[in-house]
Amino acid sequence: MNKKIWLSPPHISGNEQKYIREVFDTNWVAPLGLNVTDFENSLQAYLGENNYVAALNSGTAAIHLALLMAGITQGDEVLCQSFTFSATANPILYLGAIPVFIDSEKETWNMSPKVLEKAITDRLAKGKKPKAVIAVNSYGMPAKWDRLAVIAKKYSLVLIEDAASALGSKVNGQKCGTFGDFGIFSFNGNKIITTLGGGALITSSEKQKEKAIFFATQSRDNAPHYQHSEIGYNYRMSNILAGIGRGQMKLLASRLKARRANFKFYKTELAEITTLQFLEEPTGFYSNQWLSCIMTPSFEIREIIRLGLEQQNIESRPLWKPMHRQPIFDKYPSYLNGISDNLFEKGLCLPSGSNLTEADLERIVTDIKALIQ
Ligand SMILES: *Cc1c(COP(=O)(O)O)cnc(C)c1O
Repeated sequence: MNKKIWLSPPHISGNEQKYIREVFDTNWVAPLGLNVTDFENSLQAYLGENNYVAALNSGTAAIHLALLMAGITQGDEVLCQSFTFSATANPILYLGAIPVFIDSEKETWNMSPKVLEKAITDRLAKGKKPKAVIAVNSYGMPAKWDRLAVIAKKYSLVLIEDAASALGSKVNGQKCGTFGDFGIFSFNGNKIITTLGGGALITSSEKQKEKAIFFATQSRDNAPHYQHSEIGYNYRMSNILAGIGRGQMKLLASRLKARRANFKFYKTELAEITTLQFLEEPTGFYSNQWLSCIMTPSFEIREIIRLGLEQQNIESRPLWKPMHRQPIFDKYPSYLNGISDNLFEKGLCLPSGSNLTEADLERIVTDIKALIQ
């Protein structure tokens, strides 16, 4: 059997162990400590001025806290990109709020500003007043944040940026994670850099960062005994995992380079198969190319490629099944234009790890060519 090629495996350098060893050497095995602070500081330095980072134990937790801090409660409506991973939408349900799903546009595969505004107008006509909007940078491609922000402002919506997989992506030099009122990252094992499990909430004020950490550490009031006047959560990142993050932050530039090189390789090598299409970066957009995706001409051809690769021990995956079609979410309102349905039907994510070798990449494109011709 050929060596297994995974979709997007963790890529650890070894350097991370130094920071973990420090935790043991200095006896800082408690949940808080130097690594967490340093990891937050290095993310803050990367994102630039006026961005404050709270390190958490997952991207999902970060979305939950963003919604909580946006004031979302039982029965509130939250507009949410349909074309995404379920973790974007699940925290809406944790709060007893109602997701309203919004379809995508063609140029970035992310939330369509046009559909968003249409949905808001319709919700208002129905006597509902949505409170927040969550849009995503799918597979690392930034959404049209300038247009989404104008709409959010016009209708007084809190804008939440799911940048779980988009660390390193930018639009006209502005970094993903910094476009909304709140941004979130994930450091799950499959992301561009990893703590094996972790996330971060990005805000534009130090006070909000402190409030997020307050919620994430069981909402303890200032008292010598345990005193609580708000619901608390156990969402803080551990000091050991933050040590991995510290080491990984130093590798971000090289990981970005490798992911982008994968995309370029696929695009160049598969150019001769004109029926396969790639998502191009619109002018000013810079994607970290977290996952390299192709659009095939039909569901049948997509499945020929996917199943053929599987036989060769190569993992690939259909693009997101939109939330408006998931059994847990399909009873909620949705505003659709067919784009996310089409992406799900014909799209495929190819192996995209930063540790793919040239031989791995050659093997993948050779197999795809053989399967199609
Ligand atoms: C990975 C991911 C998440 C969830 O992050 P976790 O750290 O796994 O909780 C949320 N949204 C998107 C778009 C993701 O890719």
